[in-house]
Amino acid sequence: MESVELYRQLLGLTAPWTVERVELDIVQQQVAVHVGHPAGQRFACPECGQELGVYDHQAERVWRHLDSCQFLTYLHARPPRVSCPKHGVRQVTLPWAQANSRFTHLFEALAIDVLLAANVKRAAVLLRITWDEAWHLMERAVARGRAAKGTEMPVKMGVDEKAIAKGHRYMTLVCDLEQATIEYIGEDRKEESLAAYFDAFQQEAREKVEAISLDMWPAYINACRDKVPGADGKMVFDRFHIMRHAVEAVDKVRKQEHRALMEGGDDTLTKSKYLWLTNPENMTDKARERFAELKSCNLKTGRAWALKEALRELWSYTSEAWALKFWKRWYFWATHSRLAPMIEAAKLIARHLPNVLTYFTHRITNAVAEGLNSKIATVQKRACGYRNPDHFKIAVYFHCGGLNLYPAVLTHTKVR
Ligand SMILES: [Zn+2]
Repeated sequence: MESVELYRQLLGLTAPWTVERVELDIVQQQVAVHVGHPAGQRFACPECGQELGVYDHQAERVWRHLDSCQFLTYLHARPPRVSCPKHGVRQVTLPWAQANSRFTHLFEALAIDVLLAANVKRAAVLLRITWDEAWHLMERAVARGRAAKGTEMPVKMGVDEKAIAKGHRYMTLVCDLEQATIEYIGEDRKEESLAAYFDAFQQEAREKVEAISLDMWPAYINACRDKVPGADGKMVFDRFHIMRHAVEAVDKVRKQEHRALMEGGDDTLTKSKYLWLTNPENMTDKARERFAELKSCNLKTGRAWALKEALRELWSYTSEAWALKFWKRWYFWATHSRLAPMIEAAKLIARHLPNVLTYFTHRITNAVAEGLNSKIATVQKRACGYRNPDHFKIAVYFHCGGLNLYPAVLTHTKVR
């Protein structure tokens, strides 16, 4: 009898629910806690709350609960049903578990803490659940957290593509630049990949978006223009992406020049690729020496590199007017450089200039998204063994979504 009272308290059961009996299985190392309610008890309809007599009981169900020492502990009960005149025959709400869960709220909360701290395989071992159960738990926690997010959109957001499975598959990521959280993961990097995110919100919520940081990628631009009112004043082409285009142009110049030099037996540029791509501050002394030498050689690659370095300054201006003045000078210099890849990059940026200059109104970049990317990379590393590609999405939302993952009834647990 004492153990009955002990388990009633451990389970945090309140009236009308009570522990009827406890069975200990020493061989299996299991505890079975049988939970019931007094005869004649009335329960509320889960839809409208009307108090009704019990209509019938469903077959016994079992929920995994927190272990009692090393003993696996299971809660057993037959869920009552009520027959509501309005809503028909319904199972009543059980206070210890979410509908359709095989775990109690307290077990789920513990499991979430363990899954946040360890990878899925390790967590499953610690919790003595299967791999599939662990994923199911995460999936439900994510669904719960996302449902609780509400109907508001981030005021400042970043959109980026992400290659997974070694570039065989692309995802579209939307992040909240202020909260540094992943808000959405869409399949592929097409217009509809991003449009689907906006479609989940009312027009009113979309109007409140103030700024969107993105790459000069037509599919994303079209989706923003189509779905976000006033998108042309809100889109900011991310400076890091723009600089990446310039860096790629420098590399093209180097490749072309290296090939031409080698034809004449000149190996000046051999093994110099990373020197042109690395920030000189991060170079070893030896590399810095060689790079200084190369720069003094009057190479095409050197001129391309200087153009690229100069472009960085664009974002250092405080006023748009001064930035525009700088841009015009840079554009003249680049387009008269006789370096085809640099001319191409300059023209690409020029075509998108209005939304390069919106930076001076909104001052946002995808730097936060880049930070999230490294967090995602860790999740991805753990993803090596993912049998189900959707596991990647679940794991990213779980670890980077800024969601409240815990069952709502457990108000005393951590809220992130
Ligand atoms: Zn009802």
